Amino acid sequence: MQTRTYTWPLLAGLLLAGLLLAGLFRANGGNQLYQQQFYVFGTLVDISIWGLAEQQASEAVNAIANDFQTKHRNWHAWHSSPLTDLNQAIATGQTRTVQETSLLPMLKQAKQLSHQSDGFFNPAIGQLIGLWGFHTDDFSDNLPLPSPDKIAELVALAPSMDDIKINGNRISSRNRAVQLDFGAFAKGYAVDLAIEKLRQLGVQNAIINAGGNLKAIGKKGEKPWLIGIRHPSGKGVLAACSVSGEESIITSGNYERFREYQGVHYSHIIDPRNGMPTQGLTSVTVIDSSGARADAASTALTVAGLQDWHRIAQQMGVKYVMLVDEAGTVYMNPAMAARVQFLPEKLPNIVVSEPL
Ligand code: ADP
Ligand code: MG
Repeated sequence: MQTRTYTWPLLAGLLLAGLLLAGLFRANGGNQLYQQQFYVFGTLVDISIWGLAEQQASEAVNAIANDFQTKHRNWHAWHSSPLTDLNQAIATGQTRTVQETSLLPMLKQAKQLSHQSDGFFNPAIGQLIGLWGFHTDDFSDNLPLPSPDKIAELVALAPSMDDIKINGNRISSRNRAVQLDFGAFAKGYAVDLAIEKLRQLGVQNAIINAGGNLKAIGKKGEKPWLIGIRHPSGKGVLAACSVSGEESIITSGNYERFREYQGVHYSHIIDPRNGMPTQGLTSVTVIDSSGARADAASTALTVAGLQDWHRIAQQMGVKYVMLVDEAGTVYMNPAMAARVQFLPEKLPNIVVSEPL
């Protein structure tokens, strides 16, 4: 694995500035970078726009912020929402009509991605996710672990996206144990829609970063955007990667949402095969033109683990993957290895796989 040198302080500046400053506008020599943050989807969203007048950039960001708030309300998995209404209908064996513009396209895409992932990405396991205590806004409490019997019962009911039937905009499920939770791909899906909207608003160069779920378009002036991939510890940056054109970089990690019980760390990504939090990988990064696919894949590959990630990545059609295990070893396919740069003095142990 070859490493290239690059301006590390610039990268740190990009990320940290993003965390500290709201509505910042820098204009020098005709180059404009507009940055703004807001909190939605349980995370900080950071938008950078290059090359637009401040007023226009600020209006574009406000439009996205409003959209994200609406989506957050519509897709919420535990506060009352159109999604919890649908879940309620499924649990009681009823058919429900959903909005063609909101839940329907999302359901269709989730079904397809789940199928391609062999069900490792399985947004139908909302009951298991709730059982493990992840349907909460507060992670400070030390919840007791769910009972093995209850976990086994839910696993045996095998809720799957294949159970969902879509007839026009009427949704039903042949399995009442299905409970939809789009936490694993809502942010990737949302950044796809937001980038589309930014383009309609005349923005050609931008980054939207929803807590490590990022999509970029265009460039930062003459240069490609330089993106930091967060360290699995949640502190600092593991590697950097440049993007130009339309690309999503999505990292699934355990640094933001996890549970701790009697000193043991429990991941918020659940293996649908045994109903248990995944172990082994601390972060998975996927780069893809589709944020929804990259997000679904980052979760699916975390479940697939070192044994199955390569096959599942091929099935899902993703071309750039980086996985980090508990020992800090980094696994990548050759195309990903050719793109990312590590800090020379912090070079991890790297294993490059067969091409995807
Ligand atoms: P992040 O939210 O940190 O970006 P993910 O994209 O991996 O991470 O999403 C994790 C969330 O997805 C969990 O909090 C839960 O709501 C849901 N989830 C957990 N396990 C699965 C799974 N196997 N398939 C689909 N969704 C899952
Ligand atoms: Mg994901």
